[in-house]
Amino acid sequence: MNLEDKLFLVGFKPDEAGSHLVVRSQEACRNSCERKLCTAFCPAQVYKWEEGAITVGYNGCLECGACRIGCPNSNIEWRYPRGGFGLQYKFG
Ligand code: SF4
Ligand code: SF4
Repeated sequence: MNLEDKLFLVGFKPDEAGSHLVVRSQEACRNSCERKLCTAFCPAQVYKWEEGAITVGYNGCLECGACRIGCPNSNIEWRYPRGGFGLQYKFG
């Protein structure tokens, strides 16, 4: 089973109250992170480098926790989504 097949098995309930993932400092991303590693290691491609800033597409987060430890500047504030929101499994 490849990654696309696995991603088909999950859904996401968006929390309109806002993101459970926060990039603390866009300045640190711009000036102290040449390779923008979060755009590579996140399996759901939540982080994108667009027009000089990191965007966070939190509704696709798989809650794997990689960005909690993977950002070289500890620049991502990570927590689980609120109860009832976020990752949902289609078949239990
Ligand atoms: S890895 Fe961390 S510092 Fe680098 S671009 Fe992503 S959030 Fe910013
Ligand atoms: S927890 Fe995993 S899936 Fe969610 S944004 Fe971080 S690296 Fe991506």
